[in-house]
Amino acid sequence: MQHHLLDPASPLLSRLAELGQPAWRAKAVRRWLYGSRASSFADMTDLPKALREALEAEFTLWTTTIATHSQAEDGTEKLLLELHDRQRIECVLLRDGERRTVCISSQVGCAMGCVFCASGIDGVVRNLTTGEILEQLLRLARLLPATERISHIVVMGMGEPLANLDRLLPALAVAQDPEGMGISQRRITISTVGLPAGMERLVAENPGYQLAVSLHAAADDLRTKLVPVNKSIGLAAVMDAADHYWEASGRRLTFEYVLLGGINDSQLQARELVRLLGGRAALVNIIPYNAVAGLPYREPSQGSRERFLDVLRQAGVNVQVRRRKGARIDAACGQLRRIAAGTKPSAEADSAAVGESDSRTFLMGISDPAHKSPQTN
Ligand code: SAH
Repeated sequence: MQHHLLDPASPLLSRLAELGQPAWRAKAVRRWLYGSRASSFADMTDLPKALREALEAEFTLWTTTIATHSQAEDGTEKLLLELHDRQRIECVLLRDGERRTVCISSQVGCAMGCVFCASGIDGVVRNLTTGEILEQLLRLARLLPATERISHIVVMGMGEPLANLDRLLPALAVAQDPEGMGISQRRITISTVGLPAGMERLVAENPGYQLAVSLHAAADDLRTKLVPVNKSIGLAAVMDAADHYWEASGRRLTFEYVLLGGINDSQLQARELVRLLGGRAALVNIIPYNAVAGLPYREPSQGSRERFLDVLRQAGVNVQVRRRKGARIDAACGQLRRIAAGTKPSAEADSAAVGESDSRTFLMGISDPAHKSPQTN
């Protein structure tokens, strides 16, 4: 069986030694992969030909195939990747001015069970490997012209990243490595449902990432209905862990709040949110709900959304409404995978496909969250 070249445990170094090659060849291979976007050993033209052939026989770069590649008019591109075991995951490239943000998945499916989210409907199938997480970055980077680079990463695709830190962190380390993709840590955002154990682990090991915590409700009873994993955790523990992260990282926290019409969008609930935040220097990212086929939730009316935002703004809360992108290609993670698996697309996606204007496009959880502030650039 071939080794996955992107797997940190792949024996590239030891094979090079056995082949009588200097260790710096491994660096050269990395430069080709991450710097020059080589797609095979054959592309690595400054390696001796015999070496290229030997490596080609033993190591594979791609363990995924591109099942679908969709493009939206706003420049958003989405890949549905098929893994070696036929599971499918999604990843997205977003273009926004100079920014080239990619949104990547951390698991196949998700175990958190948030009631409005497409990714968790069928539970979690498995964790992605480090190599599979890196492969998303490499595939997306290869959609860009040679003059452009990925500038930001958001781990907001399928899955709960803090439930797969063992494999995610090594992948993000390569993303940051100047000999890898050279993406600064403060341009990498990890979005979590709020798992205190994982957050504390980041505090202890690596508090340099931007952290976005999905709240969706400011009272425990409602949050437990929307985010079932909250039952055994509770908001107090989530907020404590968020405070620890903030103390350790010095980075402004982001809280995400998906507005669901008639469920968590009242002015009373906005005031609860203000109380919960209690003057923390945080950014609240309001995410317009992106309809999922078969789920009974809807977007709030414009009026209730504006009233909700007014309460937050008047209380001095920093708030941002996430822009929508990529609707025509169902860029909301978890959706394309389900459509491909035979689930009917959402009504909204259907209508987008027949030509609504781009301003109606959306993207679940994917456009740049906290990155507009000067301190994060
Ligand atoms: N497990 C991580 C990443 C999830 S995706 C987390 O919970 O944060 C990123 C964000 O998109 C989360 O806040 C998630 O709750 C939100 N989201 C999920 N489904 C959505 C939908 N249908 N519409 C809008 N946002 C959604």
